[in-house]
Amino acid sequence: MNIVCLDLEGVLVPEIWVAFSEESGIPELARTTRDEPDYDRLMEWRLKILREHGLGLAQIQEVIERIDPLPGARAFLDALRERTQVVIISDTFEEFARPLMAKLGWPALMCNSLEVAPDGTIVRHLMRCESSKLTTVRALQSCGMETIAAGDSFNDLAMIRASKAGFLFRSTPEIREANPDLPAYERYEDLLAAILDARGKGAVTA
Ligand SMILES: [Mg+2]
Repeated sequence: MNIVCLDLEGVLVPEIWVAFSEESGIPELARTTRDEPDYDRLMEWRLKILREHGLGLAQIQEVIERIDPLPGARAFLDALRERTQVVIISDTFEEFARPLMAKLGWPALMCNSLEVAPDGTIVRHLMRCESSKLTTVRALQSCGMETIAAGDSFNDLAMIRASKAGFLFRSTPEIREANPDLPAYERYEDLLAAILDARGKGAVTA
């Protein structure tokens, strides 16, 4: 049985922290793993900034509600979900993703979560597992699922390479050049066609 494992940010929705930084008017929140490669330290720093601005989860979700999926993302996802199983595998947090999942028709999402105090303050972030994208793909394969993966970033390469078919979508020139064997697409219709075509391929043998 096939299951399509999709990255979220950059593929279906904008980069959430970049969009949040613009919508909230807090420019320092646009800092990414390119500026702070240690993701835990970056998240602790982001949560500190949010607390300093008095932003609890409810206020953050209000800002995220103003962010829309990328144009065409909902139609692409609907078309895909009519034809095969889909799960979104993301490094974001379920509480942040929730307003965007509503706009995408509530697809299945596997990501991380937040510990939130009764007053709405975000206490800390809770990562689900190590190397979550690759670990999740391997776990799905361990129970007989054949994975097809697509994403835009470095952290998607492991799940793409571990799958029976994998695609780059709206990736950077650097990543495309470093991975010339991976088909790379810019348009949803091309990604949809490639995924649907890959369904009949044989499973990867571990
Ligand atoms: Mg991404």
